[in-house]
Amino acid sequence: MRIVVLAGGIGGARFLRGLKSAVPDADITVIGNTGDDIHLFGLKVCPDLDTVMYTLGGGINEEQGWGRAEESFAVKSELAAYGVGPEWFGLGDRDFATHIVRTQMLAAGYPLSAVTEALCDRWKPGVRLLPMTDDRVETHIAVDLDGQRRVIHFQEYWVRLRASVAAHAIVPVGAEEAKPAPGVLEALADAELVLLPPSNPIVSVGTILAVPGIREAVASTSAPVIGLSPIVGGAPVRGMADKVLAAVGVEATAAAVAAHYGSDLLDGWLVDTVDADAVPKVRAGSMACRAVPLMMTDLEASAAMARAALELAGEVR
Ligand code: GDP
Ligand code: CA
Repeated sequence: MRIVVLAGGIGGARFLRGLKSAVPDADITVIGNTGDDIHLFGLKVCPDLDTVMYTLGGGINEEQGWGRAEESFAVKSELAAYGVGPEWFGLGDRDFATHIVRTQMLAAGYPLSAVTEALCDRWKPGVRLLPMTDDRVETHIAVDLDGQRRVIHFQEYWVRLRASVAAHAIVPVGAEEAKPAPGVLEALADAELVLLPPSNPIVSVGTILAVPGIREAVASTSAPVIGLSPIVGGAPVRGMADKVLAAVGVEATAAAVAAHYGSDLLDGWLVDTVDADAVPKVRAGSMACRAVPLMMTDLEASAAMARAALELAGEVR
């Protein structure tokens, strides 16, 4: 079965691990968010693509959910000794190598999609990992700091400020002019199933959908489109997704996120069992809906979520 998944970082990667285990023979294409990308120390860093690549390739720091396992931070501390920051972004020595290879290939003229393929030659994630676009897109967040409205990079908002101040606007800078990367629209057109994993609906999946043509391709595919709620019991399971939902006026509930995606996009939506009372509401919005456990506590739990998504797809097909 040809499955396409629109993924952010941790939520997307953990779900994908479950999906691979649930349907080992599936042909899986992942369209990854690149709105979180940032240039640091002259290097191009793609946090969400790397989280997917390391998680599926066995190189992830399991406790953290991002970055490399068995990491050391000699380069970062040497940079700090030169007074060169930022210090708030955790780049380890092993991870640095990935960004050096990526930056070198980009400088040589390869598009990000080709670079990602080359990096995946090493990691063998067992899926085809495509960036949403080869063009530069960077999510920026409008916040009030020291009584002034400022626009900062998403990573500064998320990692340095830990989303501790209200986000007033979220702008995927460059998205409007971006083109889907080679293979993205083709994969969506050929898909037999499209999945929205429990990734951040605004700054992960929302950014992917903001690339002109992608939302339309998901909405018009003949395949069922099934989403899994990243909101459980009125809160994001990990992270600060509620802050970016508030910025666009969406309540942090499983039903509100489904409505935000819309029934033009989604055919089915899975909510956690603690949100079972949302099921009639989602169904009233003309989507199939079921309540199943949605906590990715281990591989088996994530695989069970993937199986539930496949079952719901069977219902709407
Ligand atoms: P990021 O790019 O690393 O922030 O990762 P994603 O955008 O892919 O996923 C982040 C989202 O995953 C968070 O907003 C959480 O709501 C959601 N999430 C994380 N762990 C779980 C889980 O175990 N179950 C569910 N349902 N959602 C989760
Ligand atoms: Ca991310």
